[in-house]
Amino acid sequence: MTGSAWEQALFQLDQAARIMNLDPNVHEVLRYPKRTLEVAVPTRMDDGSVRVFTGYRVHHNTSRGPSKGGIRYHPGVTLEEVKALAMWMTWKCAVVSIPYGGAKGGIVVDPKSLSPGELERMTRRYASEILPLIGPERDIPAPDVGTNDQVMAWIMDTYSMNVGYSVPGVVTGKPLSVGGSAGRGASTARGVMYVTVSTLKHLAMPVDEARVVVQGFGKVGAPVVQLLHDQGCMVVGVADLGGAVYNPRGLSPVGLAAHHDETGTVAGFEGGEPITNEELFEVECDVVVPAALEGIINEKNADRIQARIIVEAANGPTTPEADEILHDRGIHVVPDILANAGGVTVSYFEWVQDLQAYFWTEDEVNARLRRIMEESYVNVLELAEDRKVTMRLAATILGVQRVAEAHTTRGLFP
Ligand code: NAD
Repeated sequence: MTGSAWEQALFQLDQAARIMNLDPNVHEVLRYPKRTLEVAVPTRMDDGSVRVFTGYRVHHNTSRGPSKGGIRYHPGVTLEEVKALAMWMTWKCAVVSIPYGGAKGGIVVDPKSLSPGELERMTRRYASEILPLIGPERDIPAPDVGTNDQVMAWIMDTYSMNVGYSVPGVVTGKPLSVGGSAGRGASTARGVMYVTVSTLKHLAMPVDEARVVVQGFGKVGAPVVQLLHDQGCMVVGVADLGGAVYNPRGLSPVGLAAHHDETGTVAGFEGGEPITNEELFEVECDVVVPAALEGIINEKNADRIQARIIVEAANGPTTPEADEILHDRGIHVVPDILANAGGVTVSYFEWVQDLQAYFWTEDEVNARLRRIMEESYVNVLELAEDRKVTMRLAATILGVQRVAEAHTTRGLFP
């Protein structure tokens, strides 16, 4: 089966349902998103013309609590992709046991093609179009590919202006000045780091000799490079949309970040030699961390990956076909719904802090995040060993099981 991200997500759900003997009635409910909203986002451009962008917000499931999920600005956004990402959010929140359902949103746009003013006007109009679906007790967006803390601040302000008072808990991943949480910025990466270290230890591989390759140098990939380096790992290859760079003796995270700040890409960094994005996955290393987009590891490159471990910082980076190849080759894949759950976990902390108007220190945030990531890793690993299934299947089974239990306990309305 090669297909859309949605087909991939359904395939994973069906596979888990079969193995866990899921009640067919519950299975049927979980195969559909609860609500999907498509909106037109007319935006005044700087030259006075009006462009209409297409936006989406999807709630997959809310049995365990309000829905939660990022907003993506990317030219490749489709309703199918948003639905898949929303379903993965449902399982992810359940895997790390935080009281949320799954959602996702997006606009079909290249945000880099907009001026700051155009970006703000488009964001505010989109926020007001999805207003009926969002709210601190209903659905709480966060940043994803192409969006950031400033975009979240505009959404928070738009929502607040509509209700007439400040509602910081309507979005997470906000700047600290408007109710953001300490530690949220690097939280996804920090979670990736915790599970990478747990995996290395589980496989009895020394952390401080591990050679790592990271694809994507954005909000997740860049701090992953720094945090794994801080653990003693050696980051030997990094890629982004602009190109890739390789150094078998290790790349300097600080040098890479400075080069990226200056040029907007890791390509051309002088601390390594240029390679192609395809070659990145063929590099001799121990750990590959995909931190860009879906479907990047597929049947065309899965047999060329040299690493023993793949830690999925991105959502849906591995196709089901690639999964099978990797499994046959004995490569240990830590699935997205576990590996990148650090972001939504600290988003949950941010929301809790906003609701209580009482803020934690960064050390408190990181310590609580670490506990959740390490415990969740062990839970998934034990289930995988128990059932003799892959980590992905185990994580999906765990997520689906918790959602199914909540759904069944509440009962089907009416
Ligand atoms: P971002 O927009 O900040 O960065 C994306 C990076 O990927 C950029 O460096 C870009 O150049 C690179 N990239 C895009 N297409 C590429 C390609 N074809 N080849 C090589 N590099 C490419 O996005 P982000 O927030 O870092 O998100 C990255 C992934 O992590 C996404 O799958 C996202 O859903 C997932 N994720 C993000 C968060 C979060 O908190 N931001 C949380 C959980 C999961």
